[in-house]
Amino acid sequence: MATGQPVSVAIERDSGIQYVVTLGERPSTRIVQPRLDTLTLGREVDVKTSLYAALEAEEIPRRFAAELDMLLGGLMDTRRDIAGGERLQLLWEEDRREDGTRVGPPRLTYMRLVDQGERLEVLWPADQRTTVMLFKNGSLLDSLQIPVLGARLTSPFGNRRHPVSGEVRRHDGIDLAAPRGTPVMATARGRISFIGRRGGYGRVVEIEHETGTISRYTHLSRFVARLAVGDSIKAGEKLGEVGASGLATGPNLHYEVRVDDRPVDPLEEGQLILLSESPTRQEYRSALFEARTRLQKNIGTSAAPDLAALDNR
Ligand SMILES: [Zn+2]
Repeated sequence: MATGQPVSVAIERDSGIQYVVTLGERPSTRIVQPRLDTLTLGREVDVKTSLYAALEAEEIPRRFAAELDMLLGGLMDTRRDIAGGERLQLLWEEDRREDGTRVGPPRLTYMRLVDQGERLEVLWPADQRTTVMLFKNGSLLDSLQIPVLGARLTSPFGNRRHPVSGEVRRHDGIDLAAPRGTPVMATARGRISFIGRRGGYGRVVEIEHETGTISRYTHLSRFVARLAVGDSIKAGEKLGEVGASGLATGPNLHYEVRVDDRPVDPLEEGQLILLSESPTRQEYRSALFEARTRLQKNIGTSAAPDLAALDNR
């Protein structure tokens, strides 16, 4: 260097981690972990026309509409059933740097939708983010196992008629559209029974679960390094990333659940089969109680009357 002074260059990733590269007589790289604060944010919205319009008007992160659409899609036609008159309450978390700028995407932790006395609640547990719990009027409906967070359900399970040719085709899974590189996670624990390329599926990972049920994750752009057949996998463990390998029109996860090689709807029967490790009743109740308390604190509305309505299941 002409000046004799070492030159430092800091490269920052979306995660907030900085790589400080110093050039000089002895070049070096230093990794600086970000100092982050996790903020909990809450918002209450009256839906006037649609879920999307309501979220947009309140400057709530847009990605939430897609996430909620997918979660609630198994229960209702969100476009028809959420069309005005509902009250929506959301809680989410954001990681912020000391200067207040956001790092990484915001994460939903709790949602409550009240429509003429009917109450739907969704809870995202902090420790195991792929097991999403759904409550209707205080009773646990189901736990959803989602292999991609923030994805859009672009094609449901079952027979579908091609819009142009009219030809009926069987769709053995669901298509979840998400940007290339979005993590794909195992929906339940099991062992890898296949990993590699397979025809139209492209890069595919297959997991065999305790009951013999198989879950299949396809069109991946890449696999997690060193993953191999026989490896044990936990629920929520990353398998690879969303891509468009094989026969895919764009980046999406074609996700299948098979019982005795018969495809089942991953959002219906498949959910129930893969729920091998359900939390206990007490854990559900305390998780829900805790979320409602946080909601009350963050949007200042009274969530208390509902606490009495907690079911005794
Ligand atoms: Zn598909």
